This record gives sequence, C-alpha cells and structure tokens, in this order.
Amino acid sequence: MKRFALAGNPNSGKTTLFNALTGSTAHVGNWPGVTVDKREGVYKKGGEPVSIVDLPGIYSLSPYTPEEVISRNYILDERPDLVINIVDATNLERNLYLTTQIMEIDVPMVIALNMIDAVEKAGDKIDAATLEKKIGVPVVAISALKGEGIDKLMQRAADECAKERKGSTVLKGTALFHLINDVRISLEGKGVKAPLFHAVKLVELDEIEVKMHADCVKMVEEFKATFSDDTFGTDFEALVADGRYRYISENFTPALEKKNRDKESASDRADRVLTHKIWGIPIFLVILFAIFHLTFSENFLFLGAALGEDFDPLAGSEHWAGVLFGGGIYSPGVMIFNIWNDIILDFVFGGLSDLIAGAGLSGWATGLICDGIFGGLSAVLSFLPQILILFLFFSILEDSGYMARIAFILDRIFRRFGLSGRAFMPMIMGFGCSVPAMINTRTLADDKERTATVRVIPFFSCGAKLPILTAIAGAIVGQAGVGNADLITYSMYLLGIIVAIASVLIMRNTTMKGDVPPFIMELPAYHAPKFTGLMIHLWDKTKHFVKKAFTIILASTIVIWFLTNFGWDWRMVDEMDKSILASLGQFIQPLFTPLGFGSQLSKWGWVFAVAAITGLIAKEDVVGTFGTLAACLPIMLDTLVDVEVDGGVSAVTAMIANTGITVPALIAFIAFNMLTIPCFAAVATAKAELPSKKAFNMTILFWIVTSYVVAAMVYVIGSWWWTAFLFAAAAVIAGSFIVMHNKLLKGEKV
Ligand code: GDP
Ligand code: MG
Repeated sequence: MKRFALAGNPNSGKTTLFNALTGSTAHVGNWPGVTVDKREGVYKKGGEPVSIVDLPGIYSLSPYTPEEVISRNYILDERPDLVINIVDATNLERNLYLTTQIMEIDVPMVIALNMIDAVEKAGDKIDAATLEKKIGVPVVAISALKGEGIDKLMQRAADECAKERKGSTVLKGTALFHLINDVRISLEGKGVKAPLFHAVKLVELDEIEVKMHADCVKMVEEFKATFSDDTFGTDFEALVADGRYRYISENFTPALEKKNRDKESASDRADRVLTHKIWGIPIFLVILFAIFHLTFSENFLFLGAALGEDFDPLAGSEHWAGVLFGGGIYSPGVMIFNIWNDIILDFVFGGLSDLIAGAGLSGWATGLICDGIFGGLSAVLSFLPQILILFLFFSILEDSGYMARIAFILDRIFRRFGLSGRAFMPMIMGFGCSVPAMINTRTLADDKERTATVRVIPFFSCGAKLPILTAIAGAIVGQAGVGNADLITYSMYLLGIIVAIASVLIMRNTTMKGDVPPFIMELPAYHAPKFTGLMIHLWDKTKHFVKKAFTIILASTIVIWFLTNFGWDWRMVDEMDKSILASLGQFIQPLFTPLGFGSQLSKWGWVFAVAAITGLIAKEDVVGTFGTLAACLPIMLDTLVDVEVDGGVSAVTAMIANTGITVPALIAFIAFNMLTIPCFAAVATAKAELPSKKAFNMTILFWIVTSYVVAAMVYVIGSWWWTAFLFAAAAVIAGSFIVMHNKLLKGEKV
C-alpha cells in the first residue's frame, strides 16, 4: 500500500484533513501541539487504498523540538511515497517557510492550500495556479473543514507519486548556493539519500548533520573563513533562513490578493478583551462559573427564594414537576440529569430488577445482580448526562480557540516563575482525560518541566472524577442543606487548578529547576465550533464511558459485592459489618482521621476509606462502590433480598445518614480523590512518559503526600476556620525559605 505523510505547521488543519481522508475521529484541537505522535489511517475513496500518516505539527525541519525530530525522521528515514504539505492559507508566509525545506528532500509532494474558506470569507484571494507555477510543486486549494477540494488533492497526489522527484531549493539566488551545491555533489558521491536537503542542513551546521557527515564539515568551515555577510556575518543558519523568507515574500505576493482592510479583524477585537492583562483571568473564571452553573445549578435564575419553597407550576403532573422545578428553576444540566435518572434509568433498572426478582433465582444471585451490579452501575451511569454536558462546553471552549488564549494568559503570568504556556496546554487537556494529556507533554523539550507537568495533570479534574464531585455535592445540598451544587463543583475544579499551579511552581523552584524555553505561539483565529465535530467528541466520550462501565466498573462492583456479603469464612454474612470488606475498611480507616473520614465516623464509616481505595482502579468506582454498598444497606436490616436501585446522589445521601460524616469531611473526601494517585491507566501512562524509574516513584509519593496534606487542610480549615491563619503563616515561611535558599545558591546577597 502507498503511504502519504501529512506535514505542516501546528494548527494548519492536518488532523482535520486526516479525519476527512480516513474517516477517523482523531482529536482536532484549536491550538498548536495537539498531535504529538504520528497516527495512521487508510484513505479508501480513490482507486487503490492509501495509508495516510498524520505527523506532528512543525515550523521547520530543524531538530530542536521532539515534534521536529519525529516529523523529520519520518520523512527522511521512512520514506513515504509522497508528502502532502498542508499550508494554512490565512498565514501563507509563515507556512511556506516549512514548505521550502520539505521541497529540498527528494520526495514527491503536493501542497494542500488549506482553510481556503476562511481566506474567501475575509475577502482575500489566493491563486493556487500562480503559486504552483512559482514554486514548482502542485498546489490544490482545499477546505479540510468543509471537505472541499479533497478529491482533487488526492487525485493530484496519486499522479505525483507515480513520478520521481528531485529536491529543489529556493536558495539559488543566495551567496551560499555555490557552497550548498558543492556539498551536495560531495554527499551525492558518497551515496547519501536526499543530498540537497542534507547539504543545506550541513551548511547551516545543524547538530545532527554535523555528527552524521563529519567529513563534509571542513568544506563549510573553510568557506566560512573567507566569507562575511554585511548583516549576518558568518551565521549561515540565519543567512539560509533569510534567503527562504526573502524568496517567499518576493514570490508569493503575486498569488495573494489582500483586500484592503484598515479595520482590525473581529478576532483581534475579541482578543483585546479576552486576553486583557487584568481582565483576562476574571473573565475566564466567570465563563467557567457560567458553565458549572448551566450544568449543575438547582437555582438557575437565582429566583429560589423569590419563588418560595412550594414553587411548582406543574403541580399535579407527578413526573415533570420534580424534573424541572424544586423551589427554583433547575438549570438545563439538572433538568437533563433528572430526566435521565428519574425517568429513563428508573424505568430501565426498575424494570430489570422486577424481572430478576420475579425470576425465582436464589437469594444471593438476586442480591448480586440487583444490589451489586445494578446498584453500582446505576450510580455511575446516572452521571453520564452531566459529564457530557460539561465536556461539550469544554469542547466548545477549546474548538473556538479560547482555551489557547488561556494558555497564553497563564504564560504571561507564570513564565517568570518557571512555568511556560506550553506546559499549560497538556494540563488543560487533562480536563478530558489524563492519559492523552500526559502523552501530550512530549511537546515539552525540557525533561524537568515535563516531569513537573505530568505530575500535576491529574489535578485537572477529568471526566471520570466528575461523578464523585456531583454525587457528593448533590448529597451535601440535599442532606445538609448547605450551598449550591454548582458552586461546590466549581470550587473543587478551581482547587485542583490552584494546587496544580502551586505544585509546579514549588517544583520548578526546588527539585525541578530549569530554564523556561521560549513559547512562541500565534493565537489561532476564533471560529464557531463545528457541530458534527462536537458530536463526534461527545459520541467518543459516551462510547468510552459506557465501555468502561460495562467492563472495569462492572467487574469492580461484583468484587465489592462479594467482599461486602461474605466473611472471612467464605459464608454469607447477615450483617455488613462482619464482611471481609468491613474488616479491611476498618483496618485502613484510621489513616484518614486527619482528613475527617477516619476513626471519628460511626458504624459504617469505613465505606469512605474503601471507596477511596477502589478509585485507584477507575475513579468512577468511588461512586460505584457507594452505589453497591447503599444497595446492600438493607442487609443490616436483616432483609437479604431487597431490590434497591438508585442514583449516585441517593447512595451518598445514605452514606452520610449512616456515618455522621460532616460537610468539611465530605469536601476533604472530594479533594483527596481528586488529587491522589489517579486511575491505573493514568499511572501506567505516567510511568511510560516519565524519564526514569526514580522520577516515577517520586511521582507516586508526590500524589499521596499532596492529596493527603491538601485534604487534611480542607478538613481542618473547614472545621475550625481560624486554622487558615496557621496554614497561611506556614506557607509564607516555606515560600520565603525557598526564595532565600535559591538566592544563596546563586551567590546573591540575601
Ligand atoms: P493540526 O494541529 O494541524 O492537526 O490542526 P487541526 O486539524 O487540529 O485544526 C486546527 C484548527 O483549524 C481546528 O479548529 C479546525 O477546526 C480548524 N480548521 C482545519 N481545517 C480548516 C479549514 O479548512 N477551514 C477552517 N476555517 N478551519 C479549519
Ligand atoms: Mg493535529
């Protein structure tokens, strides 16, 4: 099968084109650096199928960043049959810089002039034919997003790949051309493949080339001794870059017709507000709150008190009233949550339970299915709609280009302290799932920055942790009558972000010191997210969630059920307190006393310790465990088979009622689960991505210590507010100590 490689600048639309060609659903993000690894798929629409490889985005073929190394090695060593160089037509000049380098390799290529729709919309014109004539490589205008021009592109590609292509360079007019040519001839004589490309790189004295062809370096050095340019002296790398840019600006202008525009673009105007020095962060916090309010609020229009306790315009219609109103008007997220839980899940699991109960199975089998499996699964599944809604909002923020601005704003604030915007991108991805986010840290060139980033990614609460948050927030509101669910979940997300930033700052100033590499990123233009793209994201998320529910979580609930219903003598217990799980739970329970869910709890207090441990398998298991245990509670009441299936919130409510846990302890419980060792998939990824075994071991320790300390602080401050001053004082002392210590190290006066 023929292989075509997609190469281009970050954010030029490679993945969008890849998806359009292969029908796959790889993640498209409106910020640079989403695709770190190369990815393969098959294009089947043409004659014979072609394998398509999506390479990471790059600005040049120099070996400075991991993406550049991956893409360069792929094109040079794995020799694809053709390179599709995708070029963002709205940024032609910058994108063609890479084109001029790929052209130098002896490989067939076509240029995909992407985002032509955006160019036209802005009122500009780019003439593909003129560009093609100038540059000598086929150019096809396309819109990857709208699927326009793609068949033509593939047609031209198929034609091109049947032909040989010798590399060509745009440096012909420059003072270095003779030298390049001499080096090329010498390399060619030695049988080097793609001699022109290597010759140019050698002239630039690129590190990799110098090592590979040491014998040719002398030619370059000798030439250098006799040469000097007015502007660049003997910096050949700069001379080559200048030569490329000069060529581009002299030759591409005829192809581009810009409409005269003195007005700033809408994107620029939006950015003046959204990335404002002072208002940028508050605006982000407000947007984030709006999202949580839409998803979780039970008092959506802030009218609760005005409407009164008994506000219920649909009184009499039994079902719908409870779904839409409750003293106030519910937010859309809560309405959907209610419909899903009170109507759909209730019907499905209720019906199934009746069926099982009537099937005449033995008592323990009915218990296993109805309490263990249905109890655990329904508790976890009950949160699917809210996960999807939150995820939808995050996808919109990301796809519109807004999240890239957040990285930009944070970079501006934190760069001085050793934390760059590059590191924020994988962190923000962590809101979806830690696994791809950790893989994405490969964009960070510095090992120490990378280690620090991998460690804090789990603090950006992922979709799987949401059930914990929602279930407990809902139960707190319902049971203790404190606060609003949206405020609690929002604050917990912020807590995660704050702990993450604080931890990175501490690490970057103590054990993980290092320079902050420059962060060059142009902000992608804002655009309206594409509906089908969003739906694909949601569908992926749903599939993933359902698959997980019916595999890992299902298996865990079964194990939990057995451990709750059997004693050490392998006989069924008549009271949950005599079960294996209870004795294990009671054993570890005291560990959590400083966090508020340890020895101070009554009777069934061990369930919180157990739930936290099951979270190490998958974070949904925390709530799944509550669901199974809550369904089993009737065991305590001596009725073995009692069919009890309900959502996660009521499971936690039952736990609160039976253990006497306080609100600060519940919040500490959320904090602990959010910050502690993530699920095993994330742990395995961290292990693979971290540079050494030692770094990995320290990471596990870091997660345990951070979660324990922060959760203990939450509990202690929540229970005795004045202790906040003690913690603040300790933080100030520790901070000053670090600053002084670093100054001493640098030999500065304190
Ligand atoms: P990559 O980083 O090169 O893989 O780029 P992506 O495929 O992730 O796309 C970056 C952004 O550009 C996304 O927001 C896409 O929706 C958008 N995009 C891609 N192709 C087009 C296009 O043809 N027209 C427009 N207007 N936007 C596009
Ligand atoms: Mg990509």
